[in-house]
Amino acid sequence: MTTTARFVPVSKLPEVGTTIFSVMSALATEKKAVNLGQGFPDFSCDPALPALVAQAMTDNYNQYPPMPGMPQLRGQIATKIKNIYGHAYDVNTEITVTAGATQGILTILLACVHAGDEVIVIEPAYDSYVSSIKLAGGVPVFVSMELGADGYAIPWDKVKASITDKTRLLMLNSPHNPTGSVLSVDDIATLTDIVRDTKVLIASDEVYEHMVFDGQRHESLSRYPELAERSFIISSFGKTYHVTGWKVGYVTAPAALMAEFRKVHQYNVFTVNTPMQVGLAQFMSKPAPYLELSDFYQKKRDLFRAGLANSRLRLLPCAGTYFQSVDYSTISDKTELEFARWLTTEIGVAAIPVSAFYQQGKESGIVRFCFAKQDATLQDALQRLQSI
Ligand code: PMP
Repeated sequence: MTTTARFVPVSKLPEVGTTIFSVMSALATEKKAVNLGQGFPDFSCDPALPALVAQAMTDNYNQYPPMPGMPQLRGQIATKIKNIYGHAYDVNTEITVTAGATQGILTILLACVHAGDEVIVIEPAYDSYVSSIKLAGGVPVFVSMELGADGYAIPWDKVKASITDKTRLLMLNSPHNPTGSVLSVDDIATLTDIVRDTKVLIASDEVYEHMVFDGQRHESLSRYPELAERSFIISSFGKTYHVTGWKVGYVTAPAALMAEFRKVHQYNVFTVNTPMQVGLAQFMSKPAPYLELSDFYQKKRDLFRAGLANSRLRLLPCAGTYFQSVDYSTISDKTELEFARWLTTEIGVAAIPVSAFYQQGKESGIVRFCFAKQDATLQDALQRLQSI
């Protein structure tokens, strides 16, 4: 046995390797492909935002903030949620600023899930959920979304059937990555019935809350008091303000839930960097950037879909997020990973296989594109995709 091998710890996440997002981005760079794989904008944020952060640093906002976040930022978050969704979260006890949504999600699970507790995950699912559940000692229980003529939908009867005495928490995500589906009022009504007589908590990942199209409204769980009383709601400034690299987000929850969240948060990151919180708070005082975001992305969605309609790829519905999935099953019998590699290498457009969002790598003949890109980037990608 080598010295190195002697000291390798027993892995807590033996099945985890490099994420598909890093793999496809590296391949895109190597092949000089248009990268519509990983979900990040290729355009700049509003220059006013970094200017406010720079000013905050100059103004010496450079020491630890209060553990739950700067009060002015929590205040702006509370105001936004009250104005849009009508729920009044207490600024002092019910809102915590996190190091991105990812840390918020892990912290919720570490705070609530005990060894052997079950957590329901609806697949396809964002890849951090399952590893975070496992790190908390929980057992993920999977329910697959079903793909019908109207796109992906949650089979609520199967969710209901998965609830046992051990179910601690249900993970939800709307608008949904990777499918672009959104929860409807009917979904909310069914969900409310299902959980009513249970103690199941909900973690509602709403990082794409400001990207909902065709005049629909975002059904935040905070709109529904009966659900809000058992829910942690997660959002991310990275998505809303085109600053995915800043890794600042927040979690809201009723005070009793938030008290447990903060016990973990304070020994996990303790706080999130001060100047960005100060800059974000000032920027947030104007609601236009988040109120206009759906229109901004809807235009990109429409441009991208119009171009894809002239290709052999079959469009799936996209009601929210900045992701568009396509079905290639009638033109190739490659696996999703093989097809995504082929697209990147031969056609020059990187995509993400949707199978990467399933633990068992379910194959559906579908890949995901990210359209948070400059129009010129999208046009370039479309020209290449139309050549298939
Ligand atoms: N949840 C979902 C559904 C996401 O798509 C992402 C980012 N890709 C996150 C959470 C993580 O957000 P953040 O970068 O703020 O950690």
